Amino acid sequence: MSILQTTELKKYYGTKPNITKALDGVNLSVEQGEFVAIVGTSGSGKSTLLYTISGMDHINSGTVEFDHKEISRYNETEMAKLRLHEMGFIFQQMHFLNNLNIYDNVILPGYMAKKRKHKEINAYAEELLQKFQITSIAGHSIQEVSGGELQRACIARAMINQPQILFADEPTGALNSSSAREVMDMFSKVHEQGTTILMVTHDVKVASYAQRICYINDGKIESNLDIGVLKHTDELKEREKKVYNWLMEKGW
Ligand code: ADP
Repeated sequence: MSILQTTELKKYYGTKPNITKALDGVNLSVEQGEFVAIVGTSGSGKSTLLYTISGMDHINSGTVEFDHKEISRYNETEMAKLRLHEMGFIFQQMHFLNNLNIYDNVILPGYMAKKRKHKEINAYAEELLQKFQITSIAGHSIQEVSGGELQRACIARAMINQPQILFADEPTGALNSSSAREVMDMFSKVHEQGTTILMVTHDVKVASYAQRICYINDGKIESNLDIGVLKHTDELKEREKKVYNWLMEKGW
């Protein structure tokens, strides 16, 4: 069953005659529980796709349906509520609050959503910190933790309201290779437990964790490669090769 669907999604920047077609008719369908990576070179429209799907940027035409509702018709308030309750975000500008420690940053969206009692949210936050192996830094300030720890805290925060879908924009972009691996292992855990993930990246290694790869070029999804769910990290090298060769064929 599809949880997210875009139909002929278009997003242009600028005014005539200097128009950039950032998205030029994107048709994308994501199944419930699927882990999809959108891969493309810089400027191909990846970030714009995430921003428009999640209503953080307006579209020019087309539709976005989430959970069978046409959310591209939603107003700002409706969209903000949907984002807080049903969507988790792991974006490059992470918007952590500097004056709060890691733990408080993680629970904050939980308190804001007012869906559960504070006690329940606190308990769930502790579970998430444990799952992402950052319990020891819960009381640290943002400045006191490594990039990898901060990114794992970002995943914990994104999961606090048990979203239906997680959006990630180059989740390992600023990390060294071992931190990147740790962060991607956390994505696998989140996916294993049933959360749908839509991630954009230009990194073949990162994309190989996903179940399906969509190749985006000039604002259009040109092709899909289904590589199945990652069962063991031993498979990563082989998957990487497969994805790389496929992208080469597509003119990457
Ligand atoms: P990617 O994430 O794949 O690098 P983007 O979605 O950021 O690509 O950008 C797609 C195209 O839209 C690029 O040509 C980029 O220059 C253009 N673009 C993105 N954001 C803006 C903006 N705010 N104003 C003008 N052009 C933009």
